[in-house]
Amino acid sequence: MTKKQKKVLYRILISALLLIPANLTVLPGPVRILLYGASYLVIGYDILKKAFKGIKNRRVLDESFLMTVATLGAIALAALERSLELNEAVAVMLFYQIGELFQSVAVGKSRGSISALMDIRPDYANIEENGALVRVDPEEVEPGSEILVQPGEKIPLDGVILEGTSSLNTSSLTGESLPRDVTVGDGVISGCVNMTGLLRVKTTGSFEESTVSKILELVENASSHKSRSENFISRFARIYTPVVCGGALGLALLPPIVRMLMGMPGDWSVWIYRALTFLVISCPCALVISIPLGFFAGLGGASREGILIKGSNYLETLSQVHTVVFDKTGTLTQGVFEVRDIHRSPLEREQLLEYAALVESASSHPISKSLREAHGKRLDRSRVAEVTEIGGGGVHAKVDGKTVAAGNTRLMEQLGVAYHECPEDTGTVVHMAVDGDYAGHILISDCVKPTSQAAVEALKRCGVKNVVMLTGDQETAAEQVRRELKLDACHSGLLPADKVTWVDQMLSDPDTGKLAFVGDGVNDAPVLARADVGIAMGAMGSDAAIEAADVVLMDDDPGKVAKAIRIARKCMRIVRENIVFALAVKLLCLILGALGLAGMWAAIFADVGVMVLAVLNAIRAMYVKNV
Ligand code: ADP
Ligand code: MG
Repeated sequence: MTKKQKKVLYRILISALLLIPANLTVLPGPVRILLYGASYLVIGYDILKKAFKGIKNRRVLDESFLMTVATLGAIALAALERSLELNEAVAVMLFYQIGELFQSVAVGKSRGSISALMDIRPDYANIEENGALVRVDPEEVEPGSEILVQPGEKIPLDGVILEGTSSLNTSSLTGESLPRDVTVGDGVISGCVNMTGLLRVKTTGSFEESTVSKILELVENASSHKSRSENFISRFARIYTPVVCGGALGLALLPPIVRMLMGMPGDWSVWIYRALTFLVISCPCALVISIPLGFFAGLGGASREGILIKGSNYLETLSQVHTVVFDKTGTLTQGVFEVRDIHRSPLEREQLLEYAALVESASSHPISKSLREAHGKRLDRSRVAEVTEIGGGGVHAKVDGKTVAAGNTRLMEQLGVAYHECPEDTGTVVHMAVDGDYAGHILISDCVKPTSQAAVEALKRCGVKNVVMLTGDQETAAEQVRRELKLDACHSGLLPADKVTWVDQMLSDPDTGKLAFVGDGVNDAPVLARADVGIAMGAMGSDAAIEAADVVLMDDDPGKVAKAIRIARKCMRIVRENIVFALAVKLLCLILGALGLAGMWAAIFADVGVMVLAVLNAIRAMYVKNV
């Protein structure tokens, strides 16, 4: 509990204790009135203050106002009747504060889990200066510097290990509890905790570009995207409060006037009391609190599983997804190609690989990374100029003054190069051309991620009707993956713009339902933005994809798509339960109150009770380990 919450708790206790002697009939009246007054002020002074401030700012119709009018009204009624029945006025305030306290503890708890995620922010980076370790701000470290990460420290920046082996705890990023073993040459991402060994890391980007910064930015922006259900509440409140206040006023005035007109006694105090009860009941606290809290808890729960959802509106869309479209390379497959063979090349193997690595030296495509790795030697980038990357095709550039191209048959056709088809029907073919002459092709192959099969099955199990793959790769490689994963459909040889066309076409089909697109590459960014929900691979994915996506999977596991859908469904179910439950109880109490069947006590219990239950229910959205 925070200091503020403790203070409220003490006030509740003191106020309740003061009520005991106030109820002793042996005490003289004035003493009891003093005790009641003290008890009322101890518990309610801040609400009174807020209500009066509200009146001064002409924003009268909030809950503090409702509480103040209702309690002061009850006190006035007691004074008129010269009775000492002041328990109700104090109790209204007392239970209201108990409810508020409860809610603030609950909200604090779910904020806590989000800030546990925030805890990934590294405080410093170690650099070596004249043999001594110096701590510097991660923001000051230049890309390409060497930093040291000691056991137990957070990795401050993304980079590649130069020296050392260790195991990393990635749980705060991916929800994966098993440590990951890393050694020289492996990439490490910021925010992981280095557990066992000393690592020397060469940074690959600045702090702003690091995984940690990106996650923090995502999380910080998440709550600003309101979902339809949340908007519903704020629209609802704008109509609800004036209607209720009008209703209360009508209840206080109309029946007595009608009765008097009919020659009966007006019973003013009875009807004013009912109107006041009506006001207390009407307070829509449970609704107002539990719905955003439910979404907040859902976002928090998902992020603990390594699923970053950029706004609560996407939870709502995710819960309705019926079609999931996957990109192939890097999404369903590992995106780590191995060079299997080189065919038809007039050049030496080494020479061809060097050309391939050089022409690809500026690309971030998984193919280019693999070619650079197959070449394996240091690259002198100054030998490369005029690099042009053609999405869904390949790259061409000037290498040592020669025009070199690497890519698929489409690129070769575009450049007017006579190419040879590859006789083998597995894998992906990278055709090469030097100065317009065909220079052979490199056969590379990629394998399906070990989790992809289970991912597709899980989607089917949770009721996704259509699982489709769109890829820029050629048909043979695509077809193989489709068969292996038993996908419903697959379209290959697509340019980035073709992917958008396909998705558009699917979106226009009413059977599709909500469509999620899952991808990793720069070429996927337009589709990610176009789909109802775009889901990007966070670890291997390109920045453009992460930027354009609505949901980011931190560990690139396609299985998390089904998990995200299940989390979203659970969250939406909880939110809906709360709306229905809170409104139903509210309506019932309002009717009973207007009929005089429920007094203020019942009203308070109903209100605080509904709120407590709704908040507890909302918190459930955070527990998603086994959904
Ligand atoms: P996917 O949609 O499966 O992720 P892409 O659209 O990224 O595939 O690429 C489609 C095809 O374009 C690849 O299979 C490859 O033949 C070719 N290609 C794209 N980028 C490159 C590159 N940098 N080097 C060589 N070939 C490339
Ligand atoms: Mg891809």
